[in-house]
Amino acid sequence: STFQSLSLTRPIMRALSTLNFHKPTPIQAKSIPIALAGKDIVAGAVTGSGKTAAFLIPILERLAHRPKGRDDAKTRVLILMPTRELAVQCVSVGRALAKFMDITFCLCVGGLSVKVQENQLRERPDIVVATPGRLIDHVRNSASFGIDDVEILVMDEADRMLEDGFQAELDEIIKATPKSRQTMLFSATMTDDVDELVRLSMKRPVRLFV
Ligand code: AMP
Repeated sequence: STFQSLSLTRPIMRALSTLNFHKPTPIQAKSIPIALAGKDIVAGAVTGSGKTAAFLIPILERLAHRPKGRDDAKTRVLILMPTRELAVQCVSVGRALAKFMDITFCLCVGGLSVKVQENQLRERPDIVVATPGRLIDHVRNSASFGIDDVEILVMDEADRMLEDGFQAELDEIIKATPKSRQTMLFSATMTDDVDELVRLSMKRPVRLFV
């Protein structure tokens, strides 16, 4: 399988070649067409499999096909990660893949100033990459930021987020996003708690194991 055969838009193809990504990894080859079709995905995938680009490529592709209106800035994508470090990495891969596109990112994690983040979120960045604890603080306390326009929700390393005790935050975040959203969940292990989260958040998901 090649990136050419996935018929991606030019800015993404250019970014892939800048990054020296010449062919999709197995998880990317499977997830990209399914995610582009708008389906929910549950994937068993570990770090190192290329899973970050496996969800970021179809997300950017979908944003490219349905551009935002001139004056209607909305947060359209929410990506949840268990740790600050993983969130930082995700934003960095995202910015590299979106290098030739007009897409804004916001990192929303603990350890950064709440005030500065609040100002960034008020601008309604296209993609917010967050840890569940910090995101829920903003959702609860900010009148000028909401996640009610989110079209795509990603939960990465779902098993770790649940082990870290973020179940209640995840439930609250899921309920605050539109039912019509597309949901993608990645997890190294499929525990009962992960299954429960899948049941709670997804509609007839496609299950991918690589
Ligand atoms: P991840 O599993 O998302 O943490 O990615 C692991 C590493 O693989 C990262 O350093 C990525 O930059 C790299 N990577 C992801 N996709 C590809 C690809 N299609 N070709 C080459 N390297 C890749």
